[in-house]
Amino acid sequence: MSDNKNNDAQRMNIEAVKRIVGTVKTTLGPMGMDKMMVDGGGNVIVTNDGATILRELDSAHPAAKMIVEVSKMQEANCYDGTTSSVVLAGQLLANAESLFDKGLHANVINKGYIYAMNMALDILKGLDSADYDLTDLARTAITGKSLEASEEKVAKLCVDTIEAAGDASDVKILAAPGGSLNDSYLFNGVVVNKDFVTADGKWDGSDIPILLINGGLEPQKQDGNVQVQVDAANYSSIKNADREQMLASAKQIEDIGAKVVFVRDGVHDTIVQYLRKRDIFVCRRVPPSTMKRLNNETGAVIYQTPEDGMATVVTHVSRKRLNDVDYLFVTGSKTEATLILFGATQSTLDEVQRGFDDALGVVSLVANGDEVCVGGGATYLSLAVFMRSRAAEVGGRAQMAIEAFCDALEAIPGTIAENAGHDALDTILAMRNKVIEGETCYGPDTDNGGICDMTELSIFEPMSLIRSAITSATEVATAILRIDDVIGRRGDGPSA
Ligand code: ADP
Ligand code: MG
Repeated sequence: MSDNKNNDAQRMNIEAVKRIVGTVKTTLGPMGMDKMMVDGGGNVIVTNDGATILRELDSAHPAAKMIVEVSKMQEANCYDGTTSSVVLAGQLLANAESLFDKGLHANVINKGYIYAMNMALDILKGLDSADYDLTDLARTAITGKSLEASEEKVAKLCVDTIEAAGDASDVKILAAPGGSLNDSYLFNGVVVNKDFVTADGKWDGSDIPILLINGGLEPQKQDGNVQVQVDAANYSSIKNADREQMLASAKQIEDIGAKVVFVRDGVHDTIVQYLRKRDIFVCRRVPPSTMKRLNNETGAVIYQTPEDGMATVVTHVSRKRLNDVDYLFVTGSKTEATLILFGATQSTLDEVQRGFDDALGVVSLVANGDEVCVGGGATYLSLAVFMRSRAAEVGGRAQMAIEAFCDALEAIPGTIAENAGHDALDTILAMRNKVIEGETCYGPDTDNGGICDMTELSIFEPMSLIRSAITSATEVATAILRIDDVIGRRGDGPSA
């Protein structure tokens, strides 16, 4: 063990973190750039999303891995704000390094950081704003992303979708390559794109009886380990029994009056043929989540077999072909929401979907009661100014750590300005002056340089996004600072 006089382990970890944070830092804000990532197989991802970049970077360094965890935590909690959380964590660590140089012990820094975090969370509660519109949150979340070109359309679509679905986790996104983003729309209902085995027939109609089957419509599989010897006569009688059983199931479906059957597993050809002749539509290998959504939308019960089933009449079923893929659109009570996105290619579509995930997420947070703060880093900067005025109460070395924490908060608007080609320090100083004058809404004017009122540009974000970025960044920074030695451990996996 080293005596750790020079904070060797901490400095090494901080170096690793700085490198990885440096990669995502340039994507922050409306003028942030995208990253193109290529793997060994030549697969390309182009993205502006911090969490995605970090997930795809194969960083072997343990401290860098901890930073990746921060972005995942932020994404899971708040959908958006991943780059901000990582930039903040990186800056807290970089500032800790300067405090080491001044002779502060890691524990003193940690104590100061945690004190500062609690102070920030306390002040944050008072920094809510009421001037916003739900579409503003979506718009702020997508600025700087490929979606920006269709900003108004996307923002409205996100708000409509959350109004229909209630929560971002209940939204189903169907991404169809081909077409233009502007053709994207919200469908109130469920879309199924699984194996349609009866493709012919006219399937567009109102008041259609449907049936949901949880299992498969196939002969029982024999247990693979049992060998039964049968003679030819017995064999054909077993075969016939299977066939009869299947025809009985098929007839049952017909008798129930079902016109569309959704089946969880496979459907045997015998049944398919039988139903096709009677113009009954079969959809097989429907995933359990889609079954659940169909149940929710239509009220149709999910039965184990057709024998105990009853058909449920649903409002509308229609089949549509989108860019060469067939889909079945099912409308019932309109409780389910499906967002249908179009994009030129699969890779642009993936980035479109990531942008939607962020925007839907922030709208969902606020629609479900989260408070709203001014964006553009203005809230982080206001926190820093208010905290500095209180830091003197603490005094001593801990006060230095609190000030370092405030500097880190200011790195958010600083980086947004810098990424737009403007001076970080000038921006921060101008913003500070405004806060001192009582104006907490000013942020970087990324188009013209200098600062401007963020509320006039309608730049808003959920308060929980900022709260979560501050807590997760502080948690990981202090965890990394507590490490005073990195020791190789005997792996459990196979040795090289
Ligand atoms: P993150 O992964 O942290 O969400 P982004 O690249 O999405 O990173 O950038 C988000 C930051 O950019 C937020 O602080 C947001 O308020 C800010 N922002 C968005 N639009 C603007 C704008 N027009 N002017 C200034 N800041 C903006
Ligand atoms: Mg964002």
